[in-house]
Amino acid sequence: MDFDLSDEQQEIVRQVRALCENFPDEYWREKDRKAEFPGEFFRAIADAGYLGIAIPQQYGGSGLGVTEAALVLLEVAASGGAMAAASAIHLSIFGVSPIVHHGSEEQKRRYLPSVARGEFHVAFAVTEPDAGNDITHIKTAARRDGDSYVINGRKVFTTKAREASKMLLLTRTTPFDQVKRKTDGMSLFFADLEPAAVEVRELEKLGRAAVDTNLLFIDNLRVPVADLVGEEGRGFHCLLDGLNPERILVAAEAIGIGRAAITRAVRYAKERIVFDRPIGKNQAIAHPLADSHTKLEAAELMMLRAASLFDRGKPCGGEANAAKLRAADAAFEACDRAVQTLGGYGYIRDYDVERYFRECRLTKIAPVSQEMALNSICEHVLGLPRSY
Ligand SMILES: Cc1cc2nc3c(=O)[nH]c(=O)nc-3n(C[C@H](O)[C@H](O)[C@H](O)COP(=O)(O)OP(=O)(O)OC[C@H]3O[C@@H](n4cnc5c(N)ncnc54)[C@H](O)[C@@H]3O)c2cc1C
Repeated sequence: MDFDLSDEQQEIVRQVRALCENFPDEYWREKDRKAEFPGEFFRAIADAGYLGIAIPQQYGGSGLGVTEAALVLLEVAASGGAMAAASAIHLSIFGVSPIVHHGSEEQKRRYLPSVARGEFHVAFAVTEPDAGNDITHIKTAARRDGDSYVINGRKVFTTKAREASKMLLLTRTTPFDQVKRKTDGMSLFFADLEPAAVEVRELEKLGRAAVDTNLLFIDNLRVPVADLVGEEGRGFHCLLDGLNPERILVAAEAIGIGRAAITRAVRYAKERIVFDRPIGKNQAIAHPLADSHTKLEAAELMMLRAASLFDRGKPCGGEANAAKLRAADAAFEACDRAVQTLGGYGYIRDYDVERYFRECRLTKIAPVSQEMALNSICEHVLGLPRSY
């Protein structure tokens, strides 16, 4: 058992931290205020080679694992970039994993090198207004027509659809009532986000204004058969492999935001003098910060263990769900405590902790809610009967 990062991993952490110093809190505060995509940051991360960190070397990436991708996203979030920074790059780092694992040789050669170089943005269109967490009830339909498919339907919460020119799009090719198993009959496409056939309507949200999330209205979108990922009818199974790494990466992002909040709060608690002493001398201020620090450390150990299991090809469902659950809770509590430590200033935008607080709330909802993570642990770890 070795709890230390390798030299190579420590170097990744050092380099990402140094890169992020060029994008301080002021940069992210401004992007949040203007609801403007952090294009300069995306380009810097792409040019440094981190978008392709988990893409195999023969397709232009670094061929490293989820562990290294998690370290990148943790540092990016911890820099103060929080969810805006992480979400700007998350889908290029992780979103194309169905193509890496299930795509044709032609798709891998055609798309992966340009994703790694950041030549285009990728969106992930799975969730639908009438399906929510129950993905098997999606209604977006793809109908074969010659050497292409014609797709109609609606998607919701599609992040980065305004920037993206391609999206991983989950559809039904066989209606729900005609399949033996409800997870069959769905197909995944790497489709063009073609403006003539896809209307993108942005949703206003609590936080992470810099990275858009949208409603999509898809009307007769024609997608060539060559852009079907994996086999027709096996789309859900192509996505399944990606669920655990996605949970691990979101856990890393949450831990990073929590760490940013505690760092800012500790600095403030040392400097702010009230009643002739730094407020950090009061245990009512100091203990919650120390408590949150240890909870974030514990969540990081769980996250790294889940990542290490995944990278060694071992089952990690229980560990990945537990890491995301604990990380999201620890981060939210840390951000809340940071706001409290800064008192009135914690509520003011110039002090940044309110931004972390708003942005980290997302990790309790997406990509999987705390309730659904608990459901998975109940069923697959504890062996309790499925409750839904
Ligand atoms: C900012 C943001 C960005 C997102 N980006 C993307 C994206 O890029 N692509 C994409 O496809 N999706 C995206 N999502 C969607 C996200 O991944 C969730 O899947 C989605 O929010 C869940 O669907 P819903 O909100 O309709 O929840 P519902 O399924 O309606 O659930 C509502 C609540 O009920 C609870 N619940 C439901 N069923 C059960 C049960 N059986 N037991 C216990 N509790 C239950 C849930 O936990 C949740 O708290 C994003 C969401 C947000 C908010």
